[in-house]
Amino acid sequence: MASPYYLFASNIGRCITTALACCVVVYLTSRQWQLRNRTVPISVNYHFTRKCNKTCKFCFHTEKSSHVATEQQMKKGLKLLKDAGMRKINFAGGEPLRYPKELAMLCRYCKEDLELESVSIISNGTLLKKKWLEQNGKFVDVMGISCDSFNEDTNEAIGRGSGRNVEQLFAIRQWCLELGIKFKLNTVVCKLNWQEDMVATIAELDPFRWKCFQVLFVEDENDASRAQTKDDKRKRDARELLISKEQFEAFCGKHEHLSCFVPEPNNLMASSYLILDEYLCFLDKGSGREKQSACILHVGVDRALQEINWDRAAFVKRGGEYDWSRGVSGDADGCGDGLPKKYEF
Ligand code: SF4
Repeated sequence: MASPYYLFASNIGRCITTALACCVVVYLTSRQWQLRNRTVPISVNYHFTRKCNKTCKFCFHTEKSSHVATEQQMKKGLKLLKDAGMRKINFAGGEPLRYPKELAMLCRYCKEDLELESVSIISNGTLLKKKWLEQNGKFVDVMGISCDSFNEDTNEAIGRGSGRNVEQLFAIRQWCLELGIKFKLNTVVCKLNWQEDMVATIAELDPFRWKCFQVLFVEDENDASRAQTKDDKRKRDARELLISKEQFEAFCGKHEHLSCFVPEPNNLMASSYLILDEYLCFLDKGSGREKQSACILHVGVDRALQEINWDRAAFVKRGGEYDWSRGVSGDADGCGDGLPKKYEF
């Protein structure tokens, strides 16, 4: 007959083995759950500078700092994002062409070294030179230009005007065509342009995608008082340019038959963009005060993403994943194909 000591020792051994097995199962299950539910930053907008040569009243990424990360920091951050699942990068600002050398380096690194599916730029177009595009266009899939009106007075009143926006737009469109870069247009619909009929010139410009945003109010970005905007030229107040849902719908109703038309009302736009700022922190411009995550170089991509709210469902709903690689595509009327035609407010 086994001694009481032997029985005690063997039971303890079994208990410890069972407890260890349970811990392993719990760990593996929670790890699987984490992996299944982790946010993959498929498409990232990297606003590497806040400096701009324009003064749009509705700007929601204002010059709160003049910081620009070093080349080494930028490359390290981009590599972390690629390892976390990034497939598309969009370089934005401020005005990214305020730093043409850095922009060229970033595009080349993302296309050649990281081999991203898509590298795009969104610019106000005023600083873009044909030579820059000839030298660096092979690293760019999509060139997006912001233009809010085909009336130069309206552009001037908004703060984005140069007096020759439309002329420059047609020139850029031609350069993109020659170099095989997709040409995209962005328009912010606001109090000064919601009644404009842009159909004829859009058809002529023939973008593969025309995104129309309802002007967005963001606390801490474009909520300055009139006195503050007078004292500090970097401050913005978008209040006087805000429009109602009905006014945005009226603009959409006029243009929705164009196949390149992609409307983005406030509810789709607010948290559907993954925005990385000049400090390599994610920003959440959803409802309320703008939130900033910790820097991805310090805490990694997964942890930083957990600190903000990215509305992946809204990203999918606004057609965030599309045919975003280089090469010209289009249907018979010139506008791009395969784009979401339906929208909900
Ligand atoms: S919205 Fe206007 S001011 Fe702001 S970054 Fe774009 S072009 Fe510059």
